[in-house]
Amino acid sequence: MPLRIDLHAHTTCSDGADTPTQLVEQALRAGLDVLGLSDHDTLSGWDEAAAAVSGSGMTVIPAIELSAQVIDREAGTPPRSVHLLGYLPDPAHPALRKETDKIRSHRDHRLQLMVEKLQTDFDISWDDVAETIPPGATAGRPHIAQILIDKGYFPDTSAAFAGPLRADGPYHVPHYAPLLTQAITVLRDAGAVPVLAHPYTGARSGAIDHTLSDDRILAGYDALVDHGLAGLEIHHRENTDAGKELLQKVAKRHDLIITGSSDFHGTKKPNQLGENTTSQEHLERILTQGTGATPLR
Ligand code: AMP
Ligand code: FE
Ligand code: FE
Ligand code: ZN
Repeated sequence: MPLRIDLHAHTTCSDGADTPTQLVEQALRAGLDVLGLSDHDTLSGWDEAAAAVSGSGMTVIPAIELSAQVIDREAGTPPRSVHLLGYLPDPAHPALRKETDKIRSHRDHRLQLMVEKLQTDFDISWDDVAETIPPGATAGRPHIAQILIDKGYFPDTSAAFAGPLRADGPYHVPHYAPLLTQAITVLRDAGAVPVLAHPYTGARSGAIDHTLSDDRILAGYDALVDHGLAGLEIHHRENTDAGKELLQKVAKRHDLIITGSSDFHGTKKPNQLGENTTSQEHLERILTQGTGATPLR
């Protein structure tokens, strides 16, 4: 039987609903053989996941989903937020630690600014929000969403994101993130395998402006691969069908690693463990290229 491999999931160390232990238990119940633990901008869930997975027969691939941004100076469009998965980074690597510390500290501050803006129209305080963020966890808009849900303003996280938490709305505040090229470099330097998360969720989102001509789109990906990009998360529910077709072409052109993943956030998102999976062949390529850490089993 082929292994069931899901390489992208979140815990309470960032914006997931389950602790690392609970995530491992759910992954076992879902029949996964390999689970990627990829919290936003932190590696703080690794130790607990290692303890939870020990002796279970499952393997956890320790990873991160690093926040990054792309700025198209020529086009003059606003900076685009991009997520870069990094598999098997060295957790002690100084540059990676420095970058994740910086992102998390800016995220804390930014979330406080968003709460201040929201206070004009919603009964919400920073203390309410801060209480839902465990010490050391990466703060994000889903933490605000939780309070808006608790107070009866919205039925779920998605509704809050379609409302006041949307990125182009009046309450949004952006946060610092390294340029995508810098993020690729820091992950490679830390021995990790950089894979673009959900690369094509809409024409104007993601690493490349997909409204450009085919030649320029391909040139954009060529440059990222030259910088050290290793793979594309093609099988993800938020990639469009046309996007997946284009990404397959790009992957073929550069013989890139192709992953499929759920991007599980527990009850905070509809995504279910194992809804998309990665082939054993492509997992092997990640294990060969990733030199910063070893799988947890
Ligand atoms: P932030 O990192 O604070 O900018 O918030 C973005 C995070 O919120 C992403 O990592 C998503 O997992 C989550 N998110 C974005 N859109 C939605 C949505 N519509 N429903 C639930 N969660 C979302
Ligand atoms: Fe998330
Ligand atoms: Fe993401
Ligand atoms: Zn994610």
